[in-house]
Parts: sequence; C-alpha cells; structure tokens
Amino acid sequence: MVRGFYRQWFSPTRFNDDIPFDLAAQALIVPRGADRTVYHQYRECGALDADYRLAERCGRNACVKVVGLQAARRHGAPCVMCLPKEAQARYISKLTPCLISTESEIREGILLVWRRDRNGMWHGVVLFQEGDGLGREIVPADRLRKTAPDRRRDIVSQILRVSIATSNCPPLE
Ligand SMILES: [Zn+2]
Repeated sequence: MVRGFYRQWFSPTRFNDDIPFDLAAQALIVPRGADRTVYHQYRECGALDADYRLAERCGRNACVKVVGLQAARRHGAPCVMCLPKEAQARYISKLTPCLISTESEIREGILLVWRRDRNGMWHGVVLFQEGDGLGREIVPADRLRKTAPDRRRDIVSQILRVSIATSNCPPLE
C-alpha cells in the first residue's frame, strides 16, 4: 500500500499524518533554500518521493512541508507528475526538457528540480515516459544533456500528455 510506503520515509518529525491536509488550499514541498520549489498535491507522488530522497542525500535537513497553495504558486513550479494540468496551464513554457543517458540508451524527459550534494555535485529529479506511465529517477548532472531546440515542444507535450492520461489526481481549481 502506498500509505504504508509513505510511513517508511515520512517520520513523524518530517510529516505528521495527523495534520489535516486540505487539497484545495495547500500543497506539499521539499524546501530548497532560496531556489524555486516544486509543489505537489499528493503525498503519494513519485516525484515528491524522489525530491525528498535527493534532498536527504544532499544533506540539509530534508523534510516535506505543508504550505499554502497560493504561496506555493507564487514561489514555485507545479509538479508535472501530480499536477500535470496545472503545469500545462501555468508553467508549460518554463518546463525543462532534457536527455537522460542510461547504460543502454538515451531517453527524453523533463528535469523537474536540481539539487547540489555535499561534494558540490548536482543531481536532477527527472521524469520520463516508462511504459504507459511516467517514471522518475535521480540522475547526476553528467548524465543529463540539453535537448535539440526543435524537440523541446514535442518532449514537453508528450510527457504532459502521458502524465494527464495516467494521473488519477484531480486538477486544482
Ligand atoms: Zn508531485
């Protein structure tokens, strides 16, 4: 169960399950200092999980916070995985397509967020099409490349289309 999975990494000090979470008025973030933060709607979001794990690896008091949705919108970017309609409507021009090198292939994807680890190395949380849905992974910067400019729009549209088709999250109003 997803809920059980979350309990493994949301310790009570990081995220208190007893705190009511209002989907219509609140969002979830993994804080990033002064940088733009990705906001999420669902605790079960795989990208939130990946961002949290990356923040933990980067070592500065990783946590998941509940914030007001309006403030999250002012200061951050909607998650492509759990808020794809919001990303499409409000943020599509700022989404960052990328090429992800794996051992066997090069995939097209979207770079959701960057973080720098304790050794000064950058890592990204990337989303890509995997089967009928979206996969996500934490990838070091040296495995990420820019896409050709003429592929940019197609990659973004495709990832959003897959996310909208497979996400069971209702859109925020
Ligand atoms: Zn999300």
